Amino acid sequence: MLDTASLRVAFGVVAVTLLVLFYFVAYRTSRSAYCGWWCVALLLFIGGSAAYVLDGTSHQVWANPLGSTLMVGGVCAVWAGTRSLRDRPVLPALFVVAPGSTLLAAVLDDPAANDWAGGGVFLAWMTSAVALASWELWSVRPAAAVLLRRERTFSPAVRTMAVMASAFSAYYAARTVAFLTSGPDGDVFERFFGSGVTTLFTTVLLATVSFGMTSLSFERETEELRTRATRDGLTGLLNRQEFMRQAAAEWRSRARNRPGADGCLVLADLDHFKLVNDTYGHPAGDYALQAFAATCRGVVRSSDLVGRYGGEEFILFLPGITPERAEQVVVEISTRLRQTATLNGMTFPTVSYGIASVADSVDLAQAIEQADRALYEAKALGRDRVIRSERLRQEHEQA
Ligand code: GH3
Ligand code: MG
Ligand code: MG
Repeated sequence: MLDTASLRVAFGVVAVTLLVLFYFVAYRTSRSAYCGWWCVALLLFIGGSAAYVLDGTSHQVWANPLGSTLMVGGVCAVWAGTRSLRDRPVLPALFVVAPGSTLLAAVLDDPAANDWAGGGVFLAWMTSAVALASWELWSVRPAAAVLLRRERTFSPAVRTMAVMASAFSAYYAARTVAFLTSGPDGDVFERFFGSGVTTLFTTVLLATVSFGMTSLSFERETEELRTRATRDGLTGLLNRQEFMRQAAAEWRSRARNRPGADGCLVLADLDHFKLVNDTYGHPAGDYALQAFAATCRGVVRSSDLVGRYGGEEFILFLPGITPERAEQVVVEISTRLRQTATLNGMTFPTVSYGIASVADSVDLAQAIEQADRALYEAKALGRDRVIRSERLRQEHEQA
């Protein structure tokens, strides 16, 4: 059978190694709350297992209660770390109540003679804190992945930790039941839930979570860089480069799967925008750009692409709709913009639009060119209007 004392020493060595590696590799670079909490948890687990080494000696009277208290503190820190992943506050009361009641139960349960003093309370807290942590992990939603239309809508690092934490809390739940029904000397408890097996399981948990946390901090950093590289900082819309990349991909898939399908490309330009800046100041101009961007996003479908094409010029790709429908969409955008509250009495600028049907173009560049020509026409005809490029062409052919 597994020798518990040796396993505990091995656990201690692994935990110290993980703590050092994790602190220097992940925490010092990311400084994130969840990495900080994981360092605290590792420290508490190391302290707890160090105290348990004195089990069976004359020191067990204080060492075992202290060990259990530190272990429960450790799982509370794990739970706090998983809360911080979702930017949810930590409840300080848990750090008092859970370790406090564990210590009290152990002290009142003859810890000099009983090496499992307060075991029921200890096991119940271990089970519930890890269960809460796994619930938090299953609830993490990587918002950026959804925004950037990546296939994966979950983080593999978080998912791995969620699976591991669930397995661990299930194990502890079974351990608690075995303890409460037949006691620490029961056959089932000794065979499946004894200190040796648990130490082994905890070692695996520590390694998995340390790896998961490290991957996660890199994942989040990558995500943040990706967001900065693909989004416009002022409006949060796709930047020009990313819009072109996604629109070209959409164009290719449309041509392959639904040749001849409808779809429109729209260029929008705010009218006399220079005047807004000159009259109300640059911040008011920025606000108008943000309001226009938000209005666009609010009107189009979530599958449509909206980008900031240049200063006060915006670009939309609306797959699957006719130019008539696209015209209704942009008219709706202008209508809503007029109803939006403005800063210090400024009036929002009106907007001119050029619409090109994708069916009339061989590629994205040509569609943009056609929309641009229509937009130019809208400006020339007095602004605050929508011009569809096929109308332009018909008039041209008639002339
Ligand atoms: P038109 O109706 O012909 O489009 O006239 P306009 O004044 O809108 O066009 P013009 O191209 O002359 O001016 C665009 C202005 O947009 C000039 C520039 O200072 C302003 N602008 C570009 N980017 C930003 C920005 O990020 N914030 C603010 N506040 N202004 C911007
Ligand atoms: Mg303009
Ligand atoms: Mg312009």
